[in-house]
Amino acid sequence: MKSRDLGLLALMATVGFVAVTVLPEGSHAGEMWPTGLAAGVLLLNARSRWAEIGLLVFLASVVAMTFAGRAPLMAGGWSLGITAGALVVAGVLTHRGTRTPRLRDNVDLARFFAAILAGSAVAGAFTGVTSLLLQGDRPGVLAVATVLAHLNGYAVILPFFMAVARHRANSSRIERALQASALAGVMLLVFGLFGDKPLMAFLVVPVLSWCALRNSMRVTLLQLLAFGGSAAGLTLAGIGPFAGVERLSHHFDIVMLALHLFVLACVVSSLPSAVAVAMQRDVSHAASVERDRLHSLVGSTRGIAIIGTDADGLINLFNPGAEQQLGYRAGEVLGKSPSMFHRQEEFERLAELLGTEATHRAVAFVLREPEHAGTEVEFVNKDGDLRMHTMTLARIIDADGNVAGHVSTAEDVTERVQAHTTLTEALETERQAVDRLRQVDQLKDIFVSSVSHELRTPITSILGYLEILGDGGFGPVNSAQTNALTRVAGNSERLLSLIDDLLLLSQVQDGVLETKSADCDLGAVVLAAANVVAPACETTGKAFGIDVPSTPSPFTGDRAQLERAVINLLSNAVKFTQAGGRIDVALRSDADAAIISVRDTGVGIPRDEQAQVFKRFFRSSVAFEMAIQGSGLGLSITQAIAVSHNGHVEFESNPGEGSVFRLVFPQRVYDAHAHGHANAG
Ligand code: ADP
Repeated sequence: MKSRDLGLLALMATVGFVAVTVLPEGSHAGEMWPTGLAAGVLLLNARSRWAEIGLLVFLASVVAMTFAGRAPLMAGGWSLGITAGALVVAGVLTHRGTRTPRLRDNVDLARFFAAILAGSAVAGAFTGVTSLLLQGDRPGVLAVATVLAHLNGYAVILPFFMAVARHRANSSRIERALQASALAGVMLLVFGLFGDKPLMAFLVVPVLSWCALRNSMRVTLLQLLAFGGSAAGLTLAGIGPFAGVERLSHHFDIVMLALHLFVLACVVSSLPSAVAVAMQRDVSHAASVERDRLHSLVGSTRGIAIIGTDADGLINLFNPGAEQQLGYRAGEVLGKSPSMFHRQEEFERLAELLGTEATHRAVAFVLREPEHAGTEVEFVNKDGDLRMHTMTLARIIDADGNVAGHVSTAEDVTERVQAHTTLTEALETERQAVDRLRQVDQLKDIFVSSVSHELRTPITSILGYLEILGDGGFGPVNSAQTNALTRVAGNSERLLSLIDDLLLLSQVQDGVLETKSADCDLGAVVLAAANVVAPACETTGKAFGIDVPSTPSPFTGDRAQLERAVINLLSNAVKFTQAGGRIDVALRSDADAAIISVRDTGVGIPRDEQAQVFKRFFRSSVAFEMAIQGSGLGLSITQAIAVSHNGHVEFESNPGEGSVFRLVFPQRVYDAHAHGHANAG
């Protein structure tokens, strides 16, 4: 048990002892028992300790009353009432699990009155029943007096144990001095001059209400306590209007009843006002905190222009961001219309965009709709420069639902818009350049293709004449001449093959690579190609291996093109393999796929160049270094042929060790071709 709690209970017992002692002879009830202290000690402790505290409240009360002269049985019954009442009050106040109940709003106030009413009623019942059992005097009056006395005992003390508003007084010092003198004056009138007129006592009520409305909650509570105490003291001393009641009723219980009613009236008239004022102060405090926060936010926002207008559309807010972006000081624009920041041309542009009239009012009316948030609006700053802002306009609606003004937030995006325009223009220029290049490229392709066509005829003719010459058709030729003729023929054939490559490639690029599909045997294709390169292998001293299945490998495709593809791979293998190396061509044809592989032990392709192997005109650095002739067209043609047969070319190459190139015709495609073959067969 804390000494604080023990002290409070001792205080209760002492005040209670005095209150009972000072009651005049023959009076039984209605003493100013400080019930609020008992309930207060309960509120200070957890519920688990209430039984223990309740017992102490009971014992302290019994002892105080017995010492003050009450019969022990009566003291016991009444103390039970005090204890039970305090437990009920504390129980109702904390029934939501709150340890320190609040007295801050109307709901708290209602619960407070309900709690003290319930507690006082319980105590009243105990007192009444005790008096009835002990054949006491007038148990009904006793019960009512107890209820009222306890109500006051709670009302003026218990709020000190609750969480009340902590706002400061509204009143100035002068006002407080006036209040004190008014209160003293009224007390003097009520308890002095009009001592024989009990109703005049209620003159105190308006003065107390005045104090409650203007003072802090704590001061109001202290006033009530002081006022209740002094009213009771004066009355007990036989002074004032209530003492006069005794002369009328000849019974002091009635005096105390009147006094308690009076104090209660004062409590009921001041406590709710004090709570209402506290609530209002709370709300207005929150609102002013919010307003200050908003002000500092608006004031500290520099990158964003915030402009507010009142209900008449005149500027009443111009934040530093707006000053910075538009160049005006707030003082120069307050009270003016924001239309000063726009040109008529801009209203016309926006009016067309938003489908409204070209006036500031009409445009603003549409712009404030949420879907137009972030619209780009042109502003004219103080220097007359045109700036582009993205602007969002919103209405301010007051508590009655009327439009109290507007607020616009805008961000200067001039630079961003300019950058965007420049970028768009640059992209357009680039697109045009690409278009021109594409046209040039097309022209070049057309040129290459037509030139190749034109070249083919004379070269074929040259080759024809060379053959006739070589055969001695135009007279005998000696060995030196034959030698020269052979060289000319060789070079002419290379020229013809280059021209054929160029022609085929231009067909590929135009997407018109014509394949004359027919049934063929892939084995035969490989053998024919091998025959073409075999002599070159032999003359340059390279071993040549051929591995083709003995049974036909049916395929549907363009035989000539397939042969050409295999020849390309084989002639590369021959070209890029040094004397003493080996070249192998093989065909694997089964239900899964047909694969023609060409393997060599040549120079290979440097790894960092391998990704470009199928690009037109690609020639590896090794090919250049070793001055190996070629056009760089063979592989792209081979790839195009494979693709036109729904296949592809793949390769692996190890620099210095050799390469393997594969023409792969996948199963599905191969099956389809095989089927075609079967059907055709
Ligand atoms: P070309 O053989 O006329 O140069 P290709 O398109 O057939 O043109 O080949 C392109 C390049 O790929 C060749 O120049 C060569 O550098 C490289 N290459 C192709 N096949 C082989 C190979 N079997 N071994 C090494 N390098 C090869």
